[in-house]
Amino acid sequence: MKLIFVSGGVISGLGKGITASSIGRLLESRGIRVSAIKIDPYLNIDAGTMNPYEHGEVYVLDDGGEVDLDLGNYERFMDLHLTRDHNITTGKVYRSVIENERRGEYLGKTVQIIPHVTDEIKRRITTVARESGADVVIVELGGTVGDMESMPFLESARQLGRDLGREENVLFVHTTLIPIMGSVGEEKTKPTQHSVRELMSMGIRPDIIVGRCSEPLSPTARSKIAMFCDVPEDAVISTPDARSIYEVPLNLERQEVADYIIDRMRLRPLTSRRDMSFWEGFVDRIVNPDREVEIALVGKYTALADSYLSHLEAFTHAGAARRCRVRIRFADSDDVLTDPAGTLSGVHGVIVPGGFGTRGTEGMVAAARYARENGIPFLGVCLGFQIATIEICRDVLGLEDATSTEFDPDTPDPVICIMGEQKGITDMGATMRLGAQTVSISEGSMALELYGEDSVSERHRHRYEVNPEYIDRLESVGWHFTGRSECGTRMEIGELEGHPFFMASQFHPEFRSRPGRPSPLHQGLVDAALRHSE
Ligand code: GLN
Repeated sequence: MKLIFVSGGVISGLGKGITASSIGRLLESRGIRVSAIKIDPYLNIDAGTMNPYEHGEVYVLDDGGEVDLDLGNYERFMDLHLTRDHNITTGKVYRSVIENERRGEYLGKTVQIIPHVTDEIKRRITTVARESGADVVIVELGGTVGDMESMPFLESARQLGRDLGREENVLFVHTTLIPIMGSVGEEKTKPTQHSVRELMSMGIRPDIIVGRCSEPLSPTARSKIAMFCDVPEDAVISTPDARSIYEVPLNLERQEVADYIIDRMRLRPLTSRRDMSFWEGFVDRIVNPDREVEIALVGKYTALADSYLSHLEAFTHAGAARRCRVRIRFADSDDVLTDPAGTLSGVHGVIVPGGFGTRGTEGMVAAARYARENGIPFLGVCLGFQIATIEICRDVLGLEDATSTEFDPDTPDPVICIMGEQKGITDMGATMRLGAQTVSISEGSMALELYGEDSVSERHRHRYEVNPEYIDRLESVGWHFTGRSECGTRMEIGELEGHPFFMASQFHPEFRSRPGRPSPLHQGLVDAALRHSE
């Protein structure tokens, strides 16, 4: 078993997740099987209950795991399908330890952080690593070295180094910040030195230092870091600001990180060729676009772009396919409510993404109406699908008070409601419908054209859905449900007749979008936006 730990120092938000993902991508391109684990040192069991404003979007996996958005980066960069066990949180670890204690499994011993909590952490990491069948597993340690919460995880990582063999089976990558100060623009390595010292005080000597800096590191800074942190100079890697996150693997490749790792860990690449040509082409189409469209994203978390990360990535993938830059205008739904024409003026498309709760939903309805009435391409996802359905119900069917029971439990027209006995698989036992489900797509539909298959698997995260009692009436006015669950009872895709592009899905196509394989619905919106702009 071979593990690469990626830690972070100095400050958070250094792009550790992108560094980890990029290393994985490079190893993968040499035919090495990789997998990835994210450790989140918070006490939540999972990200399902976390506010997107604080932590960015909740990413959903095939198995219904509601996880940290970094798992989305791993899936996109390394083309993986991960499971919930690949996100280890303090909450999950402590829960197992306490449950074991209650079952008497510790045989009367005093239960302590070392060894009981650390053993549970090691057990989780090694189990996932073994079950993944990967040659090497990248383990990203969330948080910053020095945080109280991260201590048990760093200690476990140190022990795994001892257990598995520090020589070739466990490698530590430490990412830090190199600020540039003063009028001469000197790179400051002191914070890095301190952070590495802190790591060493916990018994971990890093093998590779990744220096995040606005500029490429100068040879002086590089050798200074190498000397103070006691690593070879070619193990000091520079990650300057990139035009796109997808450029980072190419940048790391130029510094031969993967070769260093392969050599140091005695990995056996299937090929000496590094096949990055697909990736190079993909990045070239992102950074050198020859056209541009602007799409308004109407939501209530628009002040934090990370709340919609997978949508932004899906647009990047779809845009790259057309060498088109997709500019996103974040539109607060309250602003759209007061002035739809002003807030949405000049956009070539509108997306209403997922969300929970009542706040902002009337503005989303206004956005859907504006797009529908003005022939502007529209995509609704999850909540956006429900919003589009409500809008059509109100304005086309004339059921003025139609809404979701999520917003008004006493509405006379509950066109969106909680259906029957949906059983979800959340840890909380709530009835959220989560994870991958099959969607059947009808003959002759736009959805079939976009997907090219009549049965697809997409990820879900919702509680409410279209009330079957309204289906016939909605279809009679042209809102066709061209995607349905396999049993036919759940509405999954809607498309509006007589509009250039007005589509919505109950599932989240953004979570399956990959470089080179964009979400078909995002592609549909981008293509329609391109036609609209012409
Ligand atoms: N709030 C809606 C529901 O629970 C939509 C959920 C979502 O957009 N993820 O069904």
